[in-house]
Amino acid sequence: MLHKVLLVNAMSTTIRPLLQVNLPLGKRLAEVAAYNREALLSFVNGVADGWERRDLAAWLVGPYRHATWHPTEPAFVTHDAALTLSHVALEWTLTDARFEVVAALQAVCATGGQRDNDELPFVVAARRTNGLVPACDDLGNTGWIAINDPRGQLPRRVGALLAVDALVNWRDYPARIRICARCERLAFARQGDACARCSAKMKADPRAEPSDG
Ligand SMILES: [Zn+2]
Repeated sequence: MLHKVLLVNAMSTTIRPLLQVNLPLGKRLAEVAAYNREALLSFVNGVADGWERRDLAAWLVGPYRHATWHPTEPAFVTHDAALTLSHVALEWTLTDARFEVVAALQAVCATGGQRDNDELPFVVAARRTNGLVPACDDLGNTGWIAINDPRGQLPRRVGALLAVDALVNWRDYPARIRICARCERLAFARQGDACARCSAKMKADPRAEPSDG
């Protein structure tokens, strides 16, 4: 169910109508946010592992669908523009979407989190391109949810997942961002900087990489 609300843009004092999504009864924003991060991580790390078309298709109907809101009813997946790309174009767009997330997070780490999260470039971009929509749940919690636009560019759609995560889990930016220096896999963790995969590889064969102690 949706209804229109008027949101005031404090910077420009212009008023623009946006749709606010009321999540289904019992579905909470925190739950959607958790799905959101799961979808983001599975995409970024899956592409690093060499995803192909079938992997993307499974992601679109699985983690991504759980994490996003779709303006119309299902049946959209078979018409997803990303799945109609040529082999080469798909490889490029997957790589591009992953690269943009990693680069955006590296930039957040480089600046040390001195900006408010709603001013981060990828959050501003996601709002400007209508990749996000305000949402509330039956407990009255309000926040943002990414829009599933099957005709949209994949990097923009993945960028919206990142924007939602930065807005909801703002304490993790940049404190818990972990990008593996060896394989560029992404994680959010309290401490440590090596990814589980590279750590395991080093333990199995210490000669393969310098020991991390
Ligand atoms: Zn690694």
